[in-house]
Amino acid sequence: QAKARGRNGYRFYAPSMTGEGVERLRLETYLRRSIEKDEIFLNYQPQVEIDTGRLIGVEALVRWNHPELGLVPPVRFIPLAEDTGFISQLGEWVLGEACRQMVRWERAGLVVPKIAVNLSVRQFERGTIVRTVRDILAETGLAPHRLQLEVTESVIMNTGDALAFINDLHAIGVSLAIDDFGTGYSSLAYLKQMPVKTLKIDRSFIKDIHLDVNDEAIAIAIIQLGKSMNLSVIAEGVETDAQAAFLLRHGCNQAQGYFYSRPVMPDDLLRRWLP
Ligand code: C2E
Ligand code: MG
Ligand code: MG
Ligand code: MG
Repeated sequence: QAKARGRNGYRFYAPSMTGEGVERLRLETYLRRSIEKDEIFLNYQPQVEIDTGRLIGVEALVRWNHPELGLVPPVRFIPLAEDTGFISQLGEWVLGEACRQMVRWERAGLVVPKIAVNLSVRQFERGTIVRTVRDILAETGLAPHRLQLEVTESVIMNTGDALAFINDLHAIGVSLAIDDFGTGYSSLAYLKQMPVKTLKIDRSFIKDIHLDVNDEAIAIAIIQLGKSMNLSVIAEGVETDAQAAFLLRHGCNQAQGYFYSRPVMPDDLLRRWLP
């Protein structure tokens, strides 16, 4: 695949530029203006307590609706935003909007206990994440313990001073979840050094949990690890009753997935969960 930006920055003259490269460049141009054009919004996916069905939180998931391209999936534009640096602006918008939405729900009568927001590696590199989070919390008045930041193992492993950032965030009162747990390259040693609150069992282990003994073993091992390290464990991508029952049987009482709800618009969430 042609890189949109060559090693020396001559993005238009890269000889290996293919149709895909041109496409990427176009996407990049559109993406840069997406926020100001109001094309970016958030969906929210409920996180529930399995045995009671209680709402314990939501995860904010970014969406891009371009007038010509339609809904572009995050797996297509997040990596692009990371490569171009646009992720800083996008990430900041997402954080702000997520916190503002918590306040809106509350005004409408729904207290969502916690909102989880995904952070990309570039937001960590920037080093301003701590100040950004603090400012957004101050602006919106959201209590810090109601904000959870999700990072993957690779974000932690690839950030030089991740420990310092994470300690700072912890000091503010914001909690941290390890997303897609079990799929990254990492040493488990970071878990004992860092104030991590939650492990999110990756969807790939949940998918065939009763068909594949290896997936079953991994899921159980993660639940056990969480228990013994006093971490909370939530399963991602729960699509069936049987998967939920399996998790509950093995001591995991938190889940997120299509079985409970797809990611939805704020009003849909309100309609479904308003007491
Ligand atoms: P993630 O953080 O692991 O989010 C979970 C993804 O799984 C979401 O995809 C969600 O829609 C999908 N999902 C949830 N339940 C189920 C299920 O039961 N079955 C299946 N098949 N899928 C399920 P989505 O929204 O397309 O997001 C993909 C990834 O994009 C996210 O993975 C996250 O890494 C990234 N992402 C999304 N929003 C943001 C954001 O605001 N900032 C950053 N940096 N990354 C984001
Ligand atoms: Mg996530
Ligand atoms: Mg995940
Ligand atoms: Mg994932």
